[in-house]
Parts: sequence; structure tokens; C-alpha cells
Amino acid sequence: MAKSVHQLHMEAMVVDTHCDTPLRIDEEHADLGKRSDEGHNDFIRMKEGGLDLSFYAIFTRTRLTPDQATVQAVRLIGETKDMIAANRDKVELAYSVRHAREIKKSGRGAIMLGMENGAPIQNDIALLNEFYRMGVRYVTLCHSAHNQLCDSCAPKEAKWHGLSPFGKKVVEQMNRLGMIVDVSHLSDESFYDCLKYSKAPIVATHSCCRAMCKHPRNMTDKMIKDLAKAGGVIQINFYPAFLSDAYGTDAYFDAADRYDAAMKAYWRSGKKGKKEIAEFKRMTQYIKKNFPSPSYKLLVDHIEHVINLVGIDYVGLGSDYDGIEMPPIGMEDVSKFEVITKELRHRGYSDDEIKKVLGENFLRAFSQVEDLAMTI
Ligand SMILES: [Zn+2]
Repeated sequence: MAKSVHQLHMEAMVVDTHCDTPLRIDEEHADLGKRSDEGHNDFIRMKEGGLDLSFYAIFTRTRLTPDQATVQAVRLIGETKDMIAANRDKVELAYSVRHAREIKKSGRGAIMLGMENGAPIQNDIALLNEFYRMGVRYVTLCHSAHNQLCDSCAPKEAKWHGLSPFGKKVVEQMNRLGMIVDVSHLSDESFYDCLKYSKAPIVATHSCCRAMCKHPRNMTDKMIKDLAKAGGVIQINFYPAFLSDAYGTDAYFDAADRYDAAMKAYWRSGKKGKKEIAEFKRMTQYIKKNFPSPSYKLLVDHIEHVINLVGIDYVGLGSDYDGIEMPPIGMEDVSKFEVITKELRHRGYSDDEIKKVLGENFLRAFSQVEDLAMTI
């Protein structure tokens, strides 16, 4: 008899390669040990969603000075580790693929660290080495501005036309350390430089398909083919503005910002402030009426686009939870991951194929990165 969707989901190693939850620990003092209806992620909802490995982004804003960025990164790592230590019955910080699998076997969730924006590395390989020792296992080389390592996809004018000279050195050292080069947020030229200079597979930890939504954060079909040829993976982002052009408008971004601000003011009031309750209700109604979120099926469409283009081995999940507003309907938070397993079953994929999408594709690429580091 065929396995139930639930059995399959529980058996699979389910991996989410990007969430911004450390910011909620830092800025909102979120307690991840308790089930909350705030934000998209905590250790209880992680378990409910059968999520086995979650990458926490050590994110630094582009406006910080290099020294501020380094201090902020160290602080976020410290706060994330403190939160994990306070909940060691539920989660453990993982340092390798094998370690993450052992943590799943023990019945707990594995957390890994990824650095989003390489600014904290400054111009110093010693800092990169130390961040590796602190547990950082991927670096998204830049965010929404060019930095000392490479060009971002956001600005109109290129600065380096790809990786900077120091960025090339960082990619080479990441290969030696066994750190994944993350190409989400990079310009197309930077992406191709990473492909050229990295000896190990590279990963887009939270990006979608440009053929389906033309946002520059997304990857063209050609980029996806070249990524796959080098053994890399694209981890599909859940953000509506990267899933469909219908959401990539100024009006949507403006409404999303206002909704987010109203929601946070409501949380900060302890959900008691009269003014805050009224404003949050008003914005919720406004969003529902004018910008209803797409169905979770749209993100599965992006997964299928990659499968149709390059086969089943090069796609996975990178939610961007706690970094995005208004995720798709049906995928409201980390407790909902089984919905994807159900939909893939419904679309006719085999159990082994589904396991690849849920995590094995990413873990294969990550293992290749680890293995290469042993040899150079
Ligand atoms: Zn991001």
C-alpha cells in the first residue's frame, strides 16, 4: 500500500534554506520556544510542519558601515545560538549535512546559519574563516546594494561587472572551507562569475524563475540550466512579488510595507492598543480586498518549471519566512510544509522525487561542497 502523505513527509528530510527569523529574535525579542501566531517561524511550528533543517539568515542591512555590519552579524549569531541553547530539547545547531541528519534522527529540528550579505567579512579572509568556525555554512555574497564582494541585482548601474577581485578570493576560500556560495540577490554577471570561479556547486537559497515572474531577483531559464549543469540548486522563494508579476508593483510594495508596519505596531502593543487593533484590522481588510495572496499552487508551479527545464535534481525550498509579507494562501507559516508534499503527490511525482525537492537535492549539492573542501 502506498505511504500516506503524512508518512512520506515525516520520513523525508525537509529543508528550508532561508528564513529571516534571527531578526525577529533581535528586534522583536521573539521567544521561539513558544508557539506563537506572530511571524512565520518558531521551534513548535517547525516541528508541526515536519521541517527538519532550517537555515537562519545572519542578515545585515546594506546601510551599515563595515564595522557595524561585523558587530551586527556577531550579535545575531550570538542571539540565535542563545535561543537554540535555551531550547535544546527541541533544536540543535548543525555544522554539517551528516550532523543535521543525526539531529533529525534524535527527533529534534536542526538549525544552520547562513550569512545574508557578505559585508561583515569586510576585506579580511580571517573574518570569513572565523564566521565559518562560528557555524556559518553559506554566504549570500550581497543584498540589495553592491558591496566589496560583488554586484547586486538591484541597482541599475554595475560597479564590478561581477565579482570584485576580493570577491573572487572569498569564493576560492569558501571552496576550501566547505561553505556554500549563495547567488540569490546577485546580478546576472555576479552569478556567472560565481559559476566560473567556484569549483563546487553553487546555490540560489531563495529565488524563483524569471520566465514566470520577471523580477531581477529571479533566475532566467539559461541561468537555471547553467546552474544545474554545475550541480547547483535553486530553492524557490515563497514571496508573492517573486512568484507573479501581478505582485511586483509599487502599489503592492507600498501596501505590503503599510500592512507590515500596522502588524508590528499591533504586536508591540501586546495586542491591546485600541488604535493599533483598529489600524491592523483596517490594513488586513485593505490587503484582502486589493492584494489577496496567491495560492501555494503558484510556488509549486515554479518548482515544476525548474523540473520541466532541467529535471528533478536541481530544485528545492527557500521560504524567506519572516523576511516577506503575506506568504501564499495555504503556506502561511512553517507549520504548513506538508501542503507542498501533498501537492507534489497530487501532481503525480514519486516518493523519491518528492524527497529530492523537499531537501535531498540541496543536501546533495551541500555534500559536494563539503567533500570538495576535504580535497583542496
Ligand atoms: Zn534575501
